[in-house]
Amino acid sequence: MIYSFEVFPPKPTTPVEDVTGCFEALSALKPDFISVTYGAGGGVNGGKLTCELAARLKNEFGIKPVAHLPCISYTKDEIREVLTMFRQYGITDILALRGDKSPDRPEKNDFRYASELINFLRQNGDFEIFAACYPEVHPEARSAAEDIRHLREKVDAGAGHLISQLFFDNESFYSFREKCEIAGINVPIEAGIMPVVNAAQIQRMVSLCGASLPRKFTAMMQRFGHSPEAMRDAGIAYAVDQIVDLAANGVDGIHLYTMNNPTVARRITEAVSGILGR
Ligand code: FAD
Repeated sequence: MIYSFEVFPPKPTTPVEDVTGCFEALSALKPDFISVTYGAGGGVNGGKLTCELAARLKNEFGIKPVAHLPCISYTKDEIREVLTMFRQYGITDILALRGDKSPDRPEKNDFRYASELINFLRQNGDFEIFAACYPEVHPEARSAAEDIRHLREKVDAGAGHLISQLFFDNESFYSFREKCEIAGINVPIEAGIMPVVNAAQIQRMVSLCGASLPRKFTAMMQRFGHSPEAMRDAGIAYAVDQIVDLAANGVDGIHLYTMNNPTVARRITEAVSGILGR
């Protein structure tokens, strides 16, 4: 079973050294890879931070990095520049994304969908390509069936590994996985798990990604949301419970959205170490 983490770079004004301790602690948990997000509005230079952190993961901590790359706000020439930078930093694995639409960021029209970026990556290098998927359907998709069809296009274009959007209801993941199988999508699908350890975080996340909240989850939020300590314990237990159930149902992998919190990642990893076989 694949086990991986996601981290994000600090704000450009914060020194990279500030997250070194976090990366070191996460690396000690021996994930198969750590993916580093890329701010959609970061410009070509915004990717430099992603590169620097990815390279440090590889060179200092011996962890395979996967660099995220959103494309809608970039021209082909700009993406070529980013790829040159990735190569200079020794990055070989890319999570190819469209990026969220925002009125603050003009779209450049060279890439409308992630599948177009994946095609471009295939023609412009020898990268291992990852792509995103949505167990509860991407919010802009016209239907679940169309979303799956477009997901298949990403796999056909060359994505060899899928990472899911976060979800709190495993049943939605199982039904999505079945639809993928019917559609002939047969690459590994990692389940995205977000440990929710504070109430403010969940409100923002859910409004962004539209994850449905099972009764068990909302009861937890209502009961413990006011207490940071209780919420942290409950959020960790919920994530562990999700992972145990997913593993029991043969999931290909778990991708933990760590929110750069190594303590939470460590507690979860330790709780499921026997299940993960590490
Ligand atoms: P796509 O696969 O292009 O899909 C977007 C929408 O277009 C879907 O509704 C799809 O059904 C539809 N579609 C696809 N192809 C077609 C077509 N040919 N015709 C019509 N419709 C089509 N964003 C960032 O900016 N930076 C990050 O680092 C980042 N990391 C992420 C990591 C993960 C694991 C996930 C799940 C998301 C991440 N995102 C990130 C957010 C992501 O950019 C958004 O969810 C974005 O809205 C969609 O990206 P996508 O690559 O899935 O898009």
